[in-house]
Parts: sequence; C-alpha cells; structure tokens
Amino acid sequence: GDNGASEGKEPIKVVTEAGFMPFSYLDKGELVGFDIELIDAVLKEAGIEYTIENVGWESMLAAVQNKDADLAIAGITVDDDRKQTYDFSSSYFESTHKVVFREGEAITSGEDIKELKVGVQAGTTGSKAAEKIMGENHPNISKYDSNTLAFMSLQSGDVDAVVTDNIVADEYVNNNPDANVEMITDPETFDSEFYGIMFPKGSELVEQVNTALQTLMENGTYEELYKKWFDA
Ligand code: GLN
Repeated sequence: GDNGASEGKEPIKVVTEAGFMPFSYLDKGELVGFDIELIDAVLKEAGIEYTIENVGWESMLAAVQNKDADLAIAGITVDDDRKQTYDFSSSYFESTHKVVFREGEAITSGEDIKELKVGVQAGTTGSKAAEKIMGENHPNISKYDSNTLAFMSLQSGDVDAVVTDNIVADEYVNNNPDANVEMITDPETFDSEFYGIMFPKGSELVEQVNTALQTLMENGTYEELYKKWFDA
C-alpha cells in the first residue's frame, strides 16, 4: 500500500479505556475489542501509523482535550456537551442504555430505578441518564471510575442497579451467568445515541479518519468486524 502520507512522521497517539467490553478491554493483558480492531482498520486504511494506550476514562478525555493524544476510541458517545470541547468522527455505532439489577427487583421501566441505589461510571452518558431520572448528584447515585467497578458494587450489594450502555450490559450479563442479575431497556426513558471517534478540537485528522471510515463501511470491512463482535 501507499504509506506516503505517514512517511517520516511520528506515529499518532491513540488512547482508549479498556474497561468497556466488548468495545475496548484487556484479554490476558492485551488490548482487544471491536473499537480496537476498528481503529486499526481505519488508520491502516488512511495510511497512518499509531501507538495505542489504555489510560482509563477520565485520563483519556483529559489527554485528548490537552492534545496529549491525537484521538480516542472507547464507545464514546457524541453529545452536544462534548462537542463544545472535542471534535468527533462520523458515528460508527448506535447505542442506548440498560438497567442491570439483581434478580428479583421489581424493575420494569427506567423510572423504577428512582427508589434504588444506582451505580454508574462517572462522567458518562449512563451517569447522565440515571441523573435525568433521579436528579443531578442524587445521593443514591454512586459514581465509579469504571463500569467494572460499578458492576462489582452490584455484586457486593453496595448498589441495587447499574445503568450503562446496552451492549456493555448485554456482555456483562451473558458473561456472568452466576451473577444472578437481569436487565431491561426502556425506549421511553433511554434515548438512542451514537459512538464516534474523539479528537482534539480542530484536529486535521478528522477528515482523513472519516474518509477511511466511509471506505470501510462501503467495502464490507465494517460489516465483517460487526459480525465478528456482535452477531456471534
Ligand atoms: N458511551 C458512554 C459515554 O460515552 C460510555 C463510554 C465508556 O464508558 N467508555 O459516556
């Protein structure tokens, strides 16, 4: 292939949050997931060399804002607040939220979490979704640094329910048959949202990445990855 575009240039710096299975997570210490394979395919298509590092959610956002990183990918939802601070690629995945809760709780709608202790990942749209129902900074909402910690608190009984992205909820429930949890979604309460690749404001990479993403959507590569990770 023609790698002229990146010749003599430093590899760009990609950051992620590997606590977001199946999009970005660690398997035996190795970064894997749909987003990890997607960004690899996108940057190869664009002829851009890169390094990738798992830095966690808050540090990932800070690194992109401060231009310490060139882009981030980790199931990051494009929303109006974030658009003030960051640029985004075209969207590559549609999602919504789910409530995961201990078996037996009478939860049939999003509104039902009002009476419960709810765990969320701080600074995420799941956190916003819970606050929309319960009230901003409601004392019964516990904010964790990662989804993994929120799920652990559900296991230990510190919270009764976790609000998180639907696919991440599905993955957790399917992978933990002994956890005695169930889940619901609620289109009346939880809006649909879209993931995008996140860049510092004004990044010149956005256009290149969008062009490559478009190519992968048209040439079947995106569909292959989608099937591998979500239709198995
Ligand atoms: N999609 C959610 C958000 O952007 C969660 C992303 C994540 O936890 N990695 O807020």
